[in-house]
Amino acid sequence: MKIVIIGPQGSGKGTQAKILSSKLGIPHISTGDILREEIKGGTELGNKVKTLIEKGELVSDEIIFEILRKRISKPDCKNGFIFDGVPRTMEQAKMLEGIGIDKVIYLDIPDDISVKRISSRYQCKNCGTIYGHDVRPKVIGRCDHCNAELYQRDDDKPEAVKKRLEIFHKETEPIIRLYKQKGILIRIDGSQTIQDVARAIEQEVMKCSG
Ligand code: AMP
Repeated sequence: MKIVIIGPQGSGKGTQAKILSSKLGIPHISTGDILREEIKGGTELGNKVKTLIEKGELVSDEIIFEILRKRISKPDCKNGFIFDGVPRTMEQAKMLEGIGIDKVIYLDIPDDISVKRISSRYQCKNCGTIYGHDVRPKVIGRCDHCNAELYQRDDDKPEAVKKRLEIFHKETEPIIRLYKQKGILIRIDGSQTIQDVARAIEQEVMKCSG
């Protein structure tokens, strides 16, 4: 199964992609996570994209193509994968046509919920666990798993969030319409709890796989 999870920031793409990945036994591929790893590692690519990401802008389609080409050629992708955060532009959607996507899960949430969730999103500096509106750390500012410090992503700060939502409406919404026309779009109400969204996704995906 080749699945795409699409939605604005704060819709729960990463969380749901991880849950689905372990249920289906196929890898979760997040272009955002890959780019953040590059930045953390101080690589040439990381340095190139750092400022763009911090401001909430998109990185170039060429960079995304290259990242995906490398990632899906790995053996763990032979039975499929879950893309999180891609496609975000029509060019990227065209590129994915060559790969053949089976289903697109659209986590739909209104802008006000997106902004509210993102402003309360914090991540562990060490293990990457995300805390937010419905998963709060036991000790404020510390990770429950490794006690490392929690931080707010630069692109989760108000100006960048505004920019990212603008980009979502302008660049990504037309792609959602395209997948709807193709008959492969599954729309899920992303404002429900994590468990309810996961259940809804599972039901829909199982329906599709017969
Ligand atoms: P995410 O973690 O998916 O919200 O991605 C974080 C940031 O990485 C985005 O705001 C973009 O700057 C960049 N990024 C991730 N995926 C893509 C993509 N498919 N196309 C362009 N930029 C991307």
